[in-house]
Amino acid sequence: MHRVEIDAQVNLLGENKRYAEENRRFLRERGIVAVNIMGAIGSGKTLLIEKTVEKMSDVKIGVILGDVVCRADYERVSKHDVVAEAINTGKECHLDAYLIHRSIRKLENVNLILIENVGNLVCPVDFDLGENKRVVMVSVTEGDDVVEKHPEIFRLADVIIINKTELAEFVGASVEKMEKDAGRLNPHAKIIKMDLKQNRGIEEWIEFLRGVMDVSGSTSRNS
Ligand code: MG
Ligand code: ZN
Repeated sequence: MHRVEIDAQVNLLGENKRYAEENRRFLRERGIVAVNIMGAIGSGKTLLIEKTVEKMSDVKIGVILGDVVCRADYERVSKHDVVAEAINTGKECHLDAYLIHRSIRKLENVNLILIENVGNLVCPVDFDLGENKRVVMVSVTEGDDVVEKHPEIFRLADVIIINKTELAEFVGASVEKMEKDAGRLNPHAKIIKMDLKQNRGIEEWIEFLRGVMDVSGSTSRNS
């Protein structure tokens, strides 16, 4: 990289850090928990959000959907009882703290914000959004070497979800290998084996979310 490009990159990330801190303060002051869900296209992020909204109907939930151009996920999620915000990033393959900074202002009255990041396992890792928890979702259909090929994003995750476990035998993937790779890269992350279509692992996920809300003192119930 040229010097000018390096400087530009440093400035960009510095600016992002500043907005991320502001977001963190904004969320903390209002007792809102925000979760950043990252993962490749097709890993199951949108379906996870839809099922979470159904299972946590007692919680006021806001959803931010990041996508390069399309609004399909937004259309899907808006059918549920949530406040949904779509962010189109244009050419960018990640959400940044400034985009989140603008969106969370419209979600002031919720208790939980689920953020679907743009679908890839590389770019979103560099951008702190000011979220409480980082989640990385992969599916066995991406190949069982997907974890070891993207070490950075798994190292920084609080939760690692391995989805579509029921399909493993049909695509020749080893869930055990994926689990082992994840545990080796990040011994502190919670690993959840899931098959969303079969409703496997979803309860463990919901329990995790409720736990985070309780710890942060967020009102997890509407009453
Ligand atoms: Mg999606
Ligand atoms: Zn990017």
